[in-house]
Amino acid sequence: MLLLAGCYILRPNSFSIWESITAFFDKGIKDLGVQNAYFPLFVTENALNTEKDHVEGFAAEVAWVTKSGQSELDRPIAIRPTSETVMYPYYAQAGAQSPETEIWIRSHRDLPLRLNQWTNVVRWEFKHPTPFIRTREFLWQEGHTAFATKAEAEEEVLQILDLYSRVYTDLLAVPVCKGKKSAKEKFAGSLYSTSVEAFVPATGRGVQGGTSHCLGQNFSKMFKIEFEADDGSKQFAWQNSWGLSTRTIGVMIMVHGDDKGIVMPPRVAPLQVIVIPIPAGSMSDAQRAELTSTTADLVAQLKQAGVRVQCDDRDNYRPGWKYNHWEVKGVPIRLELGFKDLEKKSAVLARRDTGAKETVALTDVAARVPELLEQIQADMLARSTAEFEECKETATTWDEFMAALDRKHMVLAPWADEEEIEEDVRKRSATAEAMGAKTLCIPLEQPELPPGTKCFASGKDAKNWALWGRSY
Ligand code: AMP
Repeated sequence: MLLLAGCYILRPNSFSIWESITAFFDKGIKDLGVQNAYFPLFVTENALNTEKDHVEGFAAEVAWVTKSGQSELDRPIAIRPTSETVMYPYYAQAGAQSPETEIWIRSHRDLPLRLNQWTNVVRWEFKHPTPFIRTREFLWQEGHTAFATKAEAEEEVLQILDLYSRVYTDLLAVPVCKGKKSAKEKFAGSLYSTSVEAFVPATGRGVQGGTSHCLGQNFSKMFKIEFEADDGSKQFAWQNSWGLSTRTIGVMIMVHGDDKGIVMPPRVAPLQVIVIPIPAGSMSDAQRAELTSTTADLVAQLKQAGVRVQCDDRDNYRPGWKYNHWEVKGVPIRLELGFKDLEKKSAVLARRDTGAKETVALTDVAARVPELLEQIQADMLARSTAEFEECKETATTWDEFMAALDRKHMVLAPWADEEEIEEDVRKRSATAEAMGAKTLCIPLEQPELPPGTKCFASGKDAKNWALWGRSY
């Protein structure tokens, strides 16, 4: 066996999308005052076991190093599935290795401490691995912050959630629902978790797009992250952690892809325009030279205008083959330049998302393309948002709920917000063909809940509206 199951390669096209996401998000968190750092890949068994709920939540997915060369290690060492337990000993006095070691959090003046790292983590997932969406090693950023007060921590939870939402809407043209996770679905060890939830209409499944957790004082109490407050009292820090992974790329591909292949939103497309010259057999040498120089000139003008552009002038492939090749890769605009176009001093712009074509004067190309890219980006978001809304149904009874799930939709339903009910719904909604449903989130934006509204699943008094669905 040469290849490891569940581990994938990010080739340049997908890695480039990740680079766009990192650039956007990195700027966003730095504007908020977060700094980047890097912590080790390994966790000691003791550190991993410090927070009970956390270790229980992750235990089954932790990969362990047990040997170095041929010798067994005295104690196995875990590979980080997430870095709370790697980082927090250093946030606390416990992490000070000698009396001289600087203690990071001693007084309220050391707070807030806001660190982020861009890194890989390993989760030996037992669920079926899916490229980008559920992989055993993935790239992500993880933010780990500590505050003096709960209010400051909670403010950040929502600021980060907003940034995650903007990664999806503004960059990937994918709508998401912001919400709070149910008790069953929250991050192991958190006080509460919030998330952005996306939906893949083609498969009828929801997907958790990114999570911003309020850890409360759960970890600070276990790791003894204490500080001296203004009044001299000792207090435990309020902490958050938040993560966004390469899953983002998978969500984008599944939401926008069509039968021909990928459709890239222009803002993250590694290549925004592919120029394809179409020489005709009847062309003279002079005309061929003109075609070559005109395409080169267009490419130069577009680059000047900040467009990511390339010319496919390979003479061993026919134009039709090239069209297909770049459509599969999802390049937003194809610029065709043929003999007749050249005579008319115009070019054709073909959109990947709709297939629509327009003829543009050569002198207008450099101005029109950036405009069209923005238009495509906006249209893609408008289409995916309309589809997202169409796939969201409201149900107040079990039968309505099941009918909506059968239509491969998400369901907004009033519920009593109890873990046992969620487990019961998962079991009862599983069919021979499809998995059971779970809560995707309790949307932050809640429709009105008239007094006396009953839970769709238990008949008890409903406490809120939850968004349910089959999910990845
Ligand atoms: P968590 O630390 O569990 O809250 O995860 C943070 C985010 O990472 C989640 O919201 C997912 O979007 C993403 N994620 C979790 N597990 C995986 C995985 N196995 N592969 C790719 N992305 C993942």
